[in-house]
Amino acid sequence: MKEISCKLLVIGAGPGGYVCAIRAGQLGVDTMIVEAKKPGGTCLNVGCIPSKALIHAADEFFKVHEMAAGSDPLGISLASPAIDMGKTVAWKDRIVGRLNTGVAGLLKKAKVKSIEGWARFCDGKTVEVETETGRQVIRAETIVIATGSTPVELPFLPFGGKIISSTEALSLNAVPSTLAVVGGGYIGLELGTAFAKLGSRVMVVEALPRILPLYDAELTKPVAKRLSELGVTVLTGAKAKGLSQSGEALVVEDNGKTQEIPADRVLVTVGRKPATEGWGIEEIDLDRSGPFIRVDERCHTSMRGVYAIGDVTGEPMLAHRAIAQGEMVAEIVAGHRRGWDKRAIPAVCFTDPEVVAVGMSPEEARQTGAELKIGQFPFSANGRAMTLQGEAGFVRVVARADNHLVLGIQAVGSGVSELSAAFSLAIEMGARLEDIAGTIHAHPTQSEGFQEAALKALGQALHA
Ligand SMILES: Cc1cc2nc3c(=O)[nH]c(=O)nc-3n(C[C@H](O)[C@H](O)[C@H](O)COP(=O)(O)OP(=O)(O)OC[C@H]3O[C@@H](n4cnc5c(N)ncnc54)[C@H](O)[C@@H]3O)c2cc1C
Repeated sequence: MKEISCKLLVIGAGPGGYVCAIRAGQLGVDTMIVEAKKPGGTCLNVGCIPSKALIHAADEFFKVHEMAAGSDPLGISLASPAIDMGKTVAWKDRIVGRLNTGVAGLLKKAKVKSIEGWARFCDGKTVEVETETGRQVIRAETIVIATGSTPVELPFLPFGGKIISSTEALSLNAVPSTLAVVGGGYIGLELGTAFAKLGSRVMVVEALPRILPLYDAELTKPVAKRLSELGVTVLTGAKAKGLSQSGEALVVEDNGKTQEIPADRVLVTVGRKPATEGWGIEEIDLDRSGPFIRVDERCHTSMRGVYAIGDVTGEPMLAHRAIAQGEMVAEIVAGHRRGWDKRAIPAVCFTDPEVVAVGMSPEEARQTGAELKIGQFPFSANGRAMTLQGEAGFVRVVARADNHLVLGIQAVGSGVSELSAAFSLAIEMGARLEDIAGTIHAHPTQSEGFQEAALKALGQALHA
């Protein structure tokens, strides 16, 4: 058995792990990273990137499909389009492949040693890796656990055959004619919308009273409206029970009534769970916070010299949180004084229209006991949104009434994911309403809606 040592060992090369390793390497820390699959983790291989590729392909297809239907107000007409899902998936895989190679290259450039295989803790300083060429023991001064998360499986709808997780949904070589989506959170709705645009008859089953339950109701209304326009049926307060006896349909209990939904595929997107199994967590006896590994504000676990970052440490399970934690831990290991000091983690749903939330919702802000000023500006009054045929939705700014400090910013609308950077920057820099209102926003852009929302909160709206 070979034995090697390093100062820092990172387990898992998702966005948390690979960023941590790159930054540590750049800072001159002798670093190794172990990954069982391909570099990039869930995000790059079966998450953020491939889902957005599929969503883009579906949007493009739907656009030309609408034009071919003869209902295009822009006056564009064309013959009926077709889609070759094999080619779409191959295109998506090429993007993923380029990014895999890119991450591997960046690790190499930062002088990080990459090891392919499954890592398992022997003790708090030693890890054993099953590699293709045999077992490798690695001793490290510091270890970062970045093992990520996996899809939650329902015991009565186990993955396999027609019951799929997001991973399989991203590589289907044909568009299912009927798709039942169990779970109306962001992953289910992003993929459900994409398949509806590609031609599937989609039904979403959500146990809670409304879709996207983590966002405030007003923000999700335009999404619900669009789903209905796209022919997606949404059953809320309904529970999936399993496949019918014939296996052809999904059995759903909806307000006391049982019904069968025809489903070529059943996509189960009821959440993700931290990947805490199979790598010897029991050998190091880490404290937990529910199912997650408990960490402090420096991402340190209950064991000395062991850090944890990303999805394995808790909500929100988002790539940019993992990245920020990874970068911070690398600097701590390199001897810098760092702690988690972020004011907000943006959340984006790439639904149609898109949803962005940064900081506090109006309800959360009210709960602080502060008097509020809230300004909301509709995209129906924004010139750029009109020219992009994206008038649904709005931007909303929530601020304290006394000193106008901005507490939260939300938006729903076509393409608003790109506004998330401005929203996050405003919150991170402690902007007041006057800072946003007094910044010149380029015309004509959807971002003018952000300035207008701040002006509205100040009682000075110009265009509404
Ligand atoms: C369909 C979908 C869409 C998503 N869209 C978005 C989005 O738009 N924006 C966003 O911010 N987030 C999105 N996410 C969530 C995002 O993918 C995760 O938050 C992010 O990948 C978490 O990063 P991580 O580094 O914690 O772990 P992961 O990306 O899960 O990476 C963990 C890695 O560790 C490896 N590993 C685990 N155990 C071991 C071991 N013992 N030995 C060796 N290797 C191991 C795994 O193989 C994996 O590669 C999406 C997720 C899904 C499923």
